[in-house]
Amino acid sequence: MFYIKIAVLFVITSLLTACTDTPKDIHETRFMMGTLVSFTVVHSNKNIAMKSIRKAAQEMQRVEDTFTIYGNKPNSIKDFNQLAIHTPFNFIPEVNKILETSLIIEQQSHGAFSLTLGALNKLWGFSNAEPPLAPPSPTSIQALLAAAQGCLQHQGKQWLRSSPNCQLDFGAIAKGYAIDRGIQTLKKFGIQNAMINAGGDIRLIGKHGKNDWHIGIRDPRHKDNIIATLSLHGDVSIVTSGDYERYFINQGQRYHHILNPKTGYPSYSSQSTTVIASNATLADAWSTALFVLGSKGLKVIEKLPLQALIIDSKGQLHYTKAMPINLLTKP
Ligand code: ADP
Ligand code: MG
Repeated sequence: MFYIKIAVLFVITSLLTACTDTPKDIHETRFMMGTLVSFTVVHSNKNIAMKSIRKAAQEMQRVEDTFTIYGNKPNSIKDFNQLAIHTPFNFIPEVNKILETSLIIEQQSHGAFSLTLGALNKLWGFSNAEPPLAPPSPTSIQALLAAAQGCLQHQGKQWLRSSPNCQLDFGAIAKGYAIDRGIQTLKKFGIQNAMINAGGDIRLIGKHGKNDWHIGIRDPRHKDNIIATLSLHGDVSIVTSGDYERYFINQGQRYHHILNPKTGYPSYSSQSTTVIASNATLADAWSTALFVLGSKGLKVIEKLPLQALIIDSKGQLHYTKAMPINLLTKP
């Protein structure tokens, strides 16, 4: 369903001494959620590390299957998206929780984040096996945009759609939630030092040997260049959204997969946004929301327990006061 994404964030790894009882880096990479997901567990017992990674990957796959609107496997989101309009529907508590988190972020971001863009996202086709080459017709965009706005309603704890093209899409938050579940699974196995990186959506715990984990931020217009690094440890998440992963250029114009819910077209406020949060669910959703808000979104972020970096449409950097960034070069 998806084409492979190039990781947004580049993880700088360092070798640890390889003696038997010394913790070592155990790596594993899987293709999931439309991207390469890399697991790094620092542990002295390879079997425990490998088992924990296997279970974490299974859990992340379960989350993907629960939330995706692509592929043939049934799930409750796809059911809801096909339900007759005005029919009340109960989601399982897990979906309800992410749905409610999404709606809070939708409100806090003044609609920059929108959970009801499913039909529009499918129309643009950025999650198809073959990337699109041209934008859809303005008429079809307008029609689906109108159907998406304010179309999700609730009656008590039940949810209903007010138009047939009102389609939920958790694409901007579910990957982060999957990573959180993956980290939780690793913790259940007693893992204290690890990183999961799903194509630029990262959560890390503990340290990388004696050191912090070092994360590099790419130049959105020269993807092989790292423009800044961050050194982090503890239990924290860092997620980047960019316009340089799923995109095409048509008649000199770049079209990419993060839509402005007010226009139905890709957002041109930013080239990339990076958000640090206590968990990957929030960091993922906010990196998308902030991408749409652009530099004016920093005011919103400063009021929340988040740190962020924005590379705006001109390549200028903007970041929150406490963003622990180490600049290397200007993009
Ligand atoms: P990535 O999947 O590359 O990590 P994001 O987390 O930014 O990127 O999520 C982008 C996905 O979210 C899109 O593929 C689409 O499914 C959905 N989406 C696009 N625009 C928005 C938006 N404004 N609000 C919420 N979801 C969006
Ligand atoms: Mg996101």
